[in-house]
Amino acid sequence: MAKKVVILGAGYAGLVTALKLNKLASAGDCEIILVNKHDYHQMITQLHESAAGAKSDRDIRIPLASVLKGKNIKFIKDTVEAIDKQAKQVKLKSQVLSYDYLVVSLGSESEYFGIPGLKEYSFSLKSINQARLIRIHIEKCFADYHYDPTPDKLTFVVGGAGFSGIELVGELADALPKLAEENNIPYERVKLYNVEAAPMILPGFDEELVKVAEHSLKSRGVNFLVGVPIIRVEPGKVHLKNGEIIETQTLVWTGGVRGSQIVIDAGFETEPRGRAKVDEYLRAIGHEDVFIIGDSCFVMNEETGRPYPPTAQIAIQMGENCAANLYASIKGTQKEKFVPNLLGSVASLGRKDAIGKVGKSLKTKGWIAYRIKDMSQVRYLAKIGMIFK
Ligand SMILES: Cc1cc2nc3c(=O)[nH]c(=O)nc-3n(C[C@H](O)[C@H](O)[C@H](O)COP(=O)(O)OP(=O)(O)OC[C@H]3O[C@@H](n4cnc5c(N)ncnc54)[C@H](O)[C@@H]3O)c2cc1C
Repeated sequence: MAKKVVILGAGYAGLVTALKLNKLASAGDCEIILVNKHDYHQMITQLHESAAGAKSDRDIRIPLASVLKGKNIKFIKDTVEAIDKQAKQVKLKSQVLSYDYLVVSLGSESEYFGIPGLKEYSFSLKSINQARLIRIHIEKCFADYHYDPTPDKLTFVVGGAGFSGIELVGELADALPKLAEENNIPYERVKLYNVEAAPMILPGFDEELVKVAEHSLKSRGVNFLVGVPIIRVEPGKVHLKNGEIIETQTLVWTGGVRGSQIVIDAGFETEPRGRAKVDEYLRAIGHEDVFIIGDSCFVMNEETGRPYPPTAQIAIQMGENCAANLYASIKGTQKEKFVPNLLGSVASLGRKDAIGKVGKSLKTKGWIAYRIKDMSQVRYLAKIGMIFK
């Protein structure tokens, strides 16, 4: 009898799993059901561009109907509320689904580290809807300034100088001067801060490239406050550990991620930040019928002794491995261990600038790095069948 495979989340990991399993399996092997809260796939790696107004929502939203057209994949638009691993059931907002195999690929949530007021008084950058809120809010700050010209309206703070924080700062460094000009406001009145608790920006990145990024961003007016934790946030005020208070209407928090609360509530074994521990085949510990992949899981890099960072690159590779292992589980054949193939990483610094590494050691910067980043998006669109069909 066909096995029922339920995939939760149509992000990078879940969508790739569904598409690859559909390719591998013949009719009668399995029924593939993909559940997502929206009827579109979000290009989360481009959210910073949307938040700063460089791209529209339409540019980074791919209708799932187009991706799944002609495929043997049933799509359900619904919100996952809970997983009952004993009963082998998933509770959605409007129905209960049973499964033979479950794939949990629900992504991650913002981590606020218990900092008072941070969750309540900051924007998060985890979805297209949140990126839209940031974009509209920033435009409103400029528009409001004419009627009530207080400096906090033109002071913009990004908390966190990891990958996504720096990419957002880079986009804002390009967008804010244009907004100032459009609104006929002298740019000297606009302030853009990037606050980071760690002693350097882009922790873990090559130091020489970090200096290039710092120089590029500083030359476009970014003020870095590095090694300075945010300790409290209240409406209009960001309190820093060094005693400084930044008066601002806009704090975007990108400083940490944690696993999905649904995974934690279901009682899967997790690390302290809520990401599920998985075996070498990406199955939840003690549950051979449940795969947990992408940002929702935690895999150690034995070479560095640190966990792999939550990236789309790894989520996509996990999706491919998971599909192969689901198929092997259904057919009773040999499964493949998950071994990431790190292709390098490139952080954009705004329009036409970026830094990064290709493979393990080739450093790249400037326009070429920016094009490499663009090409990785194109490769992804080809993988999910949206171009070069
Ligand atoms: C601004 C920014 C820039 C980034 N840039 C890069 C980059 O350049 N390169 C890179 O490799 N990584 C980058 N990342 C990280 C990358 O986007 C994530 O690692 C990646 O999205 C993880 O993929 P995923 O499939 O695990 O989760 P996601 O892509 O987050 O997908 C999760 C899916 O689950 C759905 N979902 C969640 N909860 C529910 C629910 N309760 N019910 C139903 N559906 C639900 C969501 O709507 C979503 O479709 C960036 C992240 C950000 C925020």
